[in-house]
Amino acid sequence: MSTGALVDRFGRVATDLRVSLTDRCNLRCSYCMPAEGLDWLPTEGVLTDDEVVRLITIGVEHLGVREVRFTGGEPLLRRGLVDIVRRTTQLRPRPETSITTNALGLTRTAHALAEAGLDRVNVSLDTVRRDDFLTITRRDRLHDVIAGLEAAAEAGLGPVKVNAVLLRGVNDQQAPELLRWCMDRGYELRFIEQMPLDAQHGWSRAEMITAEEIFASLRSVFTLEPVGEPRGSAPAELFAVDGGPHTVGVIASVTRPFCGDCDRVRLTADGQVRNCLFAREESDLRAALRGDADDHEIADRWRAAMLTKRPGHGIDDVSFLQPSRPMSAIGG
Ligand code: SAM
Ligand code: SF4
Repeated sequence: MSTGALVDRFGRVATDLRVSLTDRCNLRCSYCMPAEGLDWLPTEGVLTDDEVVRLITIGVEHLGVREVRFTGGEPLLRRGLVDIVRRTTQLRPRPETSITTNALGLTRTAHALAEAGLDRVNVSLDTVRRDDFLTITRRDRLHDVIAGLEAAAEAGLGPVKVNAVLLRGVNDQQAPELLRWCMDRGYELRFIEQMPLDAQHGWSRAEMITAEEIFASLRSVFTLEPVGEPRGSAPAELFAVDGGPHTVGVIASVTRPFCGDCDRVRLTADGQVRNCLFAREESDLRAALRGDADDHEIADRWRAAMLTKRPGHGIDDVSFLQPSRPMSAIGG
């Protein structure tokens, strides 16, 4: 009989499900994908809308999933997104439901997504300078991202969060400028340390911008005061800016890992469970789905997949090996 949460060998309980809806994308961020894109998953390999919703339903009804975040690749490219969101928010207990997106096309879908029950959006934006946006994403689409952000806020998908990655020699001097821009518009900014998850394997520990550097850069312009409780399972360390009410977050995945408090589990667009961004193994739920397994069997497989979750990502270990799937195919 399958009841019980997604618990790993170290007692961590996964309640936050990240669902990748596609590995495709309309940007080519240099820290994520090569200019020419990747070999996309074949269409028949990608879960159908019904299959995605069935797995989310099993997660919520059998396995204690309380939060669902849709990601990718670019989730707005998934045709069935609004319907998948609607069916997700109709589950009981109703999971908190959000998307992480580059916001291209959000002007067209923000209201439909809000109407379908979506709670929030996280928009990825690394610079507000057009030329640097083009350098980083290899597309001249900054204006579309800004319009998408405005549409999200207007549709009530707030608080709108902005995620930024800083790259040495490109936008690393722009942390205060980006923070000011976000505060002026009521967006909550979080910086994310660059991780070794790019398809080209171009990440370098020596080159990445560390949380310490981000703090130093922000503190050259603003005062930062730690906010509230220790961060718990929330990866962002939050700071009040100039005494508040605005805040800024820093997600120091590499230099201050939070693996001990991790409450996440990931589902790829082709139906593989990954118990960690950096996992080197996956568990195939698509085969179970398409092989007529019942919900209890699938829940059992999913639970078993958690038992190989490692205590930490080990990026700093000499034996660290980057996972073969890049971020865009795992779901960030
Ligand atoms: N396309 C959507 C977007 O960009 O928001 C969703 C998928 S994207 C893979 C999710 C997040 O991962 C984005 O905020 C992006 O900046 C971040 N990301 C991608 N590659 C990364 C890397 N190597 N290190 C840190 N963050 C990365
Ligand atoms: Fe696309 Fe997001 Fe990767 Fe940028 S970070 S290439 S928007 S999947």
